[in-house]
Amino acid sequence: MLQIQWENEMNFYKTENLQATLKLRNDVNAIILAGGTDLMVKYRNPTLILPNIEKDILYIGHLKELKGIAITKGKIRIGAVSTLNELEENDITPPILKKAIKELASLSIRNIATIGGNIANASPAGDTISPLIAIDATIILKSIKGERKLPIAKFIFGPGKTVLEENEIIEAIEINDSKFNREYYKKVGTRHANALSKINFVGLALIENDSLMDIKIAIGAVAPVVVRSEQIEKKLKGMKLKEIKKTINDIQKEYSSLINPIDDQRSTAIYRKNIALNLLKNFLQSL
Ligand SMILES: Cc1cc2nc3c(=O)[nH]c(=O)nc-3n(C[C@H](O)[C@H](O)[C@H](O)COP(=O)(O)OP(=O)(O)OC[C@H]3O[C@@H](n4cnc5c(N)ncnc54)[C@H](O)[C@@H]3O)c2cc1C
Repeated sequence: MLQIQWENEMNFYKTENLQATLKLRNDVNAIILAGGTDLMVKYRNPTLILPNIEKDILYIGHLKELKGIAITKGKIRIGAVSTLNELEENDITPPILKKAIKELASLSIRNIATIGGNIANASPAGDTISPLIAIDATIILKSIKGERKLPIAKFIFGPGKTVLEENEIIEAIEINDSKFNREYYKKVGTRHANALSKINFVGLALIENDSLMDIKIAIGAVAPVVVRSEQIEKKLKGMKLKEIKKTINDIQKEYSSLINPIDDQRSTAIYRKNIALNLLKNFLQSL
């Protein structure tokens, strides 16, 4: 195991394998570091190169048990420290996730940023979160005591808030194979690259014989957590496309009550709400 102590007596740990990492995670109150692209900003130190983290650091970005993208028992399994570029380049990655990754940060950030870091950071503007919620991804958490699995929508419960226990790490993300023949992704940001989302919108649909057989809608950065309504989706399933197009105003009204954005440095609440509802209309019209 590598252990380095900085001047402020903070320790940096890097172990040989996952088991040793989990043991240390259980015994030491350390902050997990994967790619560091969120942590380095959160704890930036204007006067020094080293970040201002007043906790021990447990590095996991090298662990081969947490890397890789594969199909296991009919499900896609993505290791938590897979970088966003690795995901973008892999044929197994669900296309809607690839679309979101292509517009996330810059190539150099995506080369080091991990999917587990994006999820654990739990930002309402986290760009991989809306597609993962739309495709009903499962988060696999691991601790020295064992493993637990839960839907991503249950893992994140507020801005920066997750149900991750102090002795756990995200080990992987599991995705069931699903079939859609319409995939719609729009990110609205100040610039095309390197800008956090003012809104991100994911729309997935399966259309057969002019009928909507399946639909998933997830809207990010317009509420404390990604907006998705299985209730509304259920009502839309089975409808003829003509019918859907006639009722777009009503569908917008239903989503409107779920969209509660905030004013912040990136955008205003009213702009976010209007754009989200326009993207919804645009997606439904495109079916
Ligand atoms: C210039 C710039 C532009 C950016 N643009 C975007 C953007 O457009 N969209 C976007 O969504 N994000 C953006 N980000 C944010 C960031 O790059 C992503 O959220 C990234 O995926 C975080 O991954 P990481 O490995 O760097 O996380 P880290 O910084 O290492 O960790 C982030 C958090 O997750 C925890 N963590 C990490 N891995 C695990 C794990 N396996 N288990 C448990 N906890 C874990 C850490 O303890 C920390 O709290 C940007 C960042 C920068 C610096």
